Amino acid sequence: MSKRDYYEILGVSKTASDGEIKASYRKLAIKYHPDKNPGDSEAEEKFKECAEAYSVLSDPQKRASYDRFGHQGVGAGAGGFDPGFTNIEDIFDLFGFGDMFGGGRGGGRTRSSAQRGSDLRYDLQISLEDAAAGKEEKLKIPRLERCEECSGKGTEKGTEPETCITCQGSGQTRFQQGFFSVMRTCGNCGGKGQIIKHPCKGCRGAGRIEKEKKLEIKIPAGVETGSRLRVNGEGEAGTNGGPSGDLYVVIHVAEHELFERQGANLYSSIPISFAQAALGAEINVPTLDSEEELKIPAGTQTGTVFRIKNQGMPILGGRGKGDLFVAVTLVTPKNLTKDQRKVLEELAEIENTDFEDESFMDKVRNIFG
Ligand SMILES: [Zn+2]
Ligand SMILES: [Zn+2]
Repeated sequence: MSKRDYYEILGVSKTASDGEIKASYRKLAIKYHPDKNPGDSEAEEKFKECAEAYSVLSDPQKRASYDRFGHQGVGAGAGGFDPGFTNIEDIFDLFGFGDMFGGGRGGGRTRSSAQRGSDLRYDLQISLEDAAAGKEEKLKIPRLERCEECSGKGTEKGTEPETCITCQGSGQTRFQQGFFSVMRTCGNCGGKGQIIKHPCKGCRGAGRIEKEKKLEIKIPAGVETGSRLRVNGEGEAGTNGGPSGDLYVVIHVAEHELFERQGANLYSSIPISFAQAALGAEINVPTLDSEEELKIPAGTQTGTVFRIKNQGMPILGGRGKGDLFVAVTLVTPKNLTKDQRKVLEELAEIENTDFEDESFMDKVRNIFG
């Protein structure tokens, strides 16, 4: 299989300038890049072909050799050729078009030092009552804020940062990888493109200092453990003009002595006496914010659960409330007064002759015939 002419591949004349070759290659590389043509092997072949052609024609020595001796002159006479790169961004780096697709590259080279501040997480414990009612909460958040002394520049008053010599201010340095030059963060300036020779004394050149920020946030009724509230722009300050991050307040609802929560419903239990259970009673049961009357019918068994509507938790961001479920527990008295003892002894005497639990007695009869 004969190889196509490199000039032909790139669609340029034999007298094309470096600029023309570069421009043409850039167009073709973007057109045929595997990232833009997934699964298209023809495009991939074209892409490799272009890369090979460019690697030769962009190098004056190789180009001269190719002009004189053809493919043999550059050792590309036969066999495969792997340009050895995968990332479409490498191509843009090659031409300094890092921002071509906009965003996504952390600000791009010309603004390489502007960075968004970090998001912050703040864990806030609140009571179940506050979770039910909602609350205004004052927070003190330690975070990095812009240094006022230097307006975030990091330089001492009256001085300016100097352009990094290594990268000439771009924050990136090129290095050769196979046929491609790849950009790397400049080690001399850490990608900032600038060197601060006279750092601000307030922030030691960082441009930000840790401060305790006081904030008031509104906790909506119905939050639960794990609810996250986002407070826009209240995270850490960005650097070099970058925007601030966000603050996330993560809610933890403390356990309650009386109530257990499941979603919007609350569960509690209340002790009642044998007499109340047997005769029926009206008792007051505590709710989250006051109490409710509950009617216990005569003959109530221990463990019976009563439902009190709309005394649960409010539904977050919605309407209505959950319910309160109250389980009654029959409590056996421990220290009887004389009178109580007397009454119970009388009761026991009657029970000896009259007590029968039908289903229980049935089982006993089944066993003993
Ligand atoms: Zn640098
Ligand atoms: Zn400062």
